[in-house]
Amino acid sequence: MISKQAFETVRRKLDELREEMVRFQQAITAIPALAPENGGEGEWDRALFIKDYLKKIGLTDIQQIDAPDPRAKEGKRPNLIARLPGKHSHKTVWIMAHMDVVPEGDRGLWETDPWQVVVKDGKIYGRGTEDNQQGLTSAIFTAKAFLETGISPYFDLGLVLVADEETGSEYGLQYLLKHHPDLFKKEDIIIVPDAGEPTSDMIEVAEKAIVWLKFVTKGKQCHASLPGHGINAFKAASYLMVELDTLYQQFNARNEMFEPPISTFEPTQKEPNVQNVNTIPGEDVFYLDCRLLPEYSVDELLTAIRQICDGIEKRFGVTITFEPVQLLEAAPPTPPDAEVVKRLQRAIQEVYGVTATPRGIGGGTVAAFFRKAGLPVAVWSTLDDMCHQPNEYAVIDYMVNDAKVFAHVALQEA
Ligand SMILES: [Zn+2]
Repeated sequence: MISKQAFETVRRKLDELREEMVRFQQAITAIPALAPENGGEGEWDRALFIKDYLKKIGLTDIQQIDAPDPRAKEGKRPNLIARLPGKHSHKTVWIMAHMDVVPEGDRGLWETDPWQVVVKDGKIYGRGTEDNQQGLTSAIFTAKAFLETGISPYFDLGLVLVADEETGSEYGLQYLLKHHPDLFKKEDIIIVPDAGEPTSDMIEVAEKAIVWLKFVTKGKQCHASLPGHGINAFKAASYLMVELDTLYQQFNARNEMFEPPISTFEPTQKEPNVQNVNTIPGEDVFYLDCRLLPEYSVDELLTAIRQICDGIEKRFGVTITFEPVQLLEAAPPTPPDAEVVKRLQRAIQEVYGVTATPRGIGGGTVAAFFRKAGLPVAVWSTLDDMCHQPNEYAVIDYMVNDAKVFAHVALQEA
């Protein structure tokens, strides 16, 4: 149930706020928030500007939670929490966006200054305008629309504006979940508008496990004309690589929620070996990128891989070691019928006229931290997927209409 009249009023208000949203995007783009790892000083200046803006639009319940980081300006990585009371306060509809952005990359590929917004053909160009300033702006203006119309959301509306999403979330969401575990409740409705499709119909609820492995195969170097004097590590590793392809048959479960609906095991990086053609390499190093469906455990996979390595060792007389360079167990998926999913589906139907479906992706979003903490979360937004690209842009219509979806979610009654 939703008050049609209340939603219409908020919807109209958001249309009126369109130009102001663009100006807000312009203002924050000019205050880059780059992580120290990326040569920046963190989110401090941008967070202060946003905090001030939240006060100006009339939010009174604003909390700043700083994660200490001596590399950053003021030695702190700021996170902002703002709440707008609803008619009922036993639940909160949270929208989480991140304040940090990635560097511009190769400046030569940009047609305009990445830190000076250019508005053209209904798009806002600039670094960060889509990732994640679009979601951030939609979230803040959802609150503003409620405040200006005097309409209260059904549940409390909460904004979580975090630091450090682009470089691991240690000073952002992970810090909040660790040091303020009472901030979020299991009954809360949590939306992360940081991935999506231009068609608005993808609600991300699950991720595969990510396992990146480095394989080192050791044989014995010798002259290529006398292969019997050594053991060709490259040749053995090539057989290993082919044998690893059988993982596709061993771990062949299908889960249609995911795109692709299977686990994947792909050899990727290859380190150089010898510098000349007539030497048999004594060592070989290559990497495998595995994305494992939640149907399997990472341990099962590692055991199967060890068995394959043992077989190659026996056959060629090499020794093979492998180690993870990244290992992220899949977080338990958000149930496809979770309240956050159902509310989003209703809101997306109303605003965009499309039926959105819960889906899984290859892994690696910040939502996994919520899921590991037992909090059901949905990742959704309307995007052309320009994140981290040169000439990044946000589509103004998406930004305004996504805010209407958030407003609808917050207005839906229990
Ligand atoms: Zn992002």
